[in-house]
Amino acid sequence: MSRRTRMTLSLFSCLGFACNAAHSPTQPRPDLVVVNANIVTMNPRQPSAEAMAIAGDRIAWVGGADEARRHYPGSVTLDLAGATVIPGIIDAHTHLLSLGESLIKISLKDLPTEDAIVERIRKEAATLPPGQWILGWGWDEGKWAANYPTNAALSAATPDHPAFLVGLHSFAGWANAKALEIAGVTQETKDPANGQILRDARTGKPTGILTNHAQDLVKRHIPQLTLEQMKRAIELAAVECVRHGLTSVHEAQVSRSMIRAFRELVGESRLPVRVSVMLDGADRALIDEWFERGPEIDPRHRLTIRSVKLFADGALGSRGAALLEPYSDQSATRGIFTTPGDVVYDITRRALAKGFQVATHAIGDAANRQVLDAYERALRETQRKDVRLRVEHAQVVAPADVPRFAQLGVIASMQPTHCTSDMPWAEQRVGPVRIQGAYAWRRMLDAGAHLPLSSDFPGETLDPFHGIYAAITRQSPEGAPAGGWRPEERLTLHEAMRGYTQEAAYAEYEERDKGSLEPGKLADFLVLSADITKSSPREILGLRAQRTYVGGKLVFQAPP
Ligand SMILES: [Zn+2]
Repeated sequence: MSRRTRMTLSLFSCLGFACNAAHSPTQPRPDLVVVNANIVTMNPRQPSAEAMAIAGDRIAWVGGADEARRHYPGSVTLDLAGATVIPGIIDAHTHLLSLGESLIKISLKDLPTEDAIVERIRKEAATLPPGQWILGWGWDEGKWAANYPTNAALSAATPDHPAFLVGLHSFAGWANAKALEIAGVTQETKDPANGQILRDARTGKPTGILTNHAQDLVKRHIPQLTLEQMKRAIELAAVECVRHGLTSVHEAQVSRSMIRAFRELVGESRLPVRVSVMLDGADRALIDEWFERGPEIDPRHRLTIRSVKLFADGALGSRGAALLEPYSDQSATRGIFTTPGDVVYDITRRALAKGFQVATHAIGDAANRQVLDAYERALRETQRKDVRLRVEHAQVVAPADVPRFAQLGVIASMQPTHCTSDMPWAEQRVGPVRIQGAYAWRRMLDAGAHLPLSSDFPGETLDPFHGIYAAITRQSPEGAPAGGWRPEERLTLHEAMRGYTQEAAYAEYEERDKGSLEPGKLADFLVLSADITKSSPREILGLRAQRTYVGGKLVFQAPP
């Protein structure tokens, strides 16, 4: 259902109103007054309102329609004709650059078979001079893990072009023969630490599938994006964000060159979305340098640098997630740790001493425990108050570890659509007992943990209404399974919306400035295509941002 809303810009005048109240001296003259709106504020002290005044980049006032007319006669007014307004969505775990690269790269997301992908790449090769790299993205390494393709057909279709096709979740890559040749990957090449070169069982030759860190063998030969290309990619992704109603993102894993790109984009007013970055903790020189200079808190809230991203393990689909006990569907493996616990502890200790936050990717129950142990040790030593360490994904957590999140004040940064994407095979990986602690949002929330929600795009859609739908239904967009998958872990609509607003703001130390529509906060909000509070789950799936405002400025407007 998509009810068209009528919006008109008009100039309020006092004519016809019993106009007796000019704005009080404490209220600055507004630049915009939103009237005739159904405002879902997410402020528990004033949950709903009809009007809102904005001065500069902040909300000056929130209240009723009549008061608005009295307070702000003669002000520029946006009449929303009853449309619903909600706070700007904050996506707490994103990959803007990957999304941007995927917008530049060939998308394989909607090509379900090897044949279809090979055909698409063959067509691309025909348009490129020999030797030029073909870069694709989006085949599903989780779904295909039971039966990975080889590069035989791909190599035959592209004999003169190196091709590298990254999986949907970036945990496996598919290289053709030319790419392996350039990278020098042969039968003799040993598996790197924390990665695997898949090999033909009979001949021992690499099949072209490289998992986890083995992808780097090829990736390091792919020409780097220039700064301009990187900026263009990030800008394209940021525009996608505001188109979907995201006004802030927490960018997970940011390199030195990305910081430069972000800075320049902000300086050139080309970054419509606010960004809090997590520095790439694998680049020790980078974090040493930042620990030396301290966090960068932007008074304009455009680009904040105060967080470090670490990886404790891989992903569940490709069996890289570190489990306490072997995989239920492959008893020879328990997955892999990608950063030792001592290193997580040491970096956390140093980060806390310098006022940084640490956000560690942990999927398996062993990885989650290792990170909680490391955090606990570092927390015991820190003098700092209000520490907000994060675990990214917290996907499979041992029951005994669930309460530790709240006890240690560790934020569980989770992704509703990971659950609904993984549910067809997740239980095969971990079995019927461990699955109880998997994607366990309800348990985590009931245990008192902070629960910011996010998409982890581009592995999943960036559309936040798909995330909210997944959170409240635990169903695929098609509505399966009936009643939801392990529905006892569903969230209410309000909890899901909190996850994408206040909780996500809390996770970046921004809850005083963002996450609800109340006086003094940044004027980040969206006008929705329908009233989310009165929509069925199916209707929520179809909600769209009609207009997106960041700091009181219109950054997206749906075409009429
Ligand atoms: Zn991620």
